[in-house]
Amino acid sequence: MLLITCPVTRTDELVADRRIRSVTNHPTHVALSVECPSCGGVHVYRTGRRWESRPAVAARPARELSHA
Ligand SMILES: [Zn+2]
Repeated sequence: MLLITCPVTRTDELVADRRIRSVTNHPTHVALSVECPSCGGVHVYRTGRRWESRPAVAARPARELSHA
């Protein structure tokens, strides 16, 4: 899931990963083309970290919980 702010309607929208049309890796950020559920257009957003780092970040808390 991804939280975006639509530049057309100025509303915050929670969008599913399947609405991401393309992901482009750059050295300093990732560019996401997202199909907007608010206005129906496609907006491009930058994230601060590379897309591949997300699963590793998400897995760490789950592993710690299994030892608790
Ligand atoms: Zn929009």
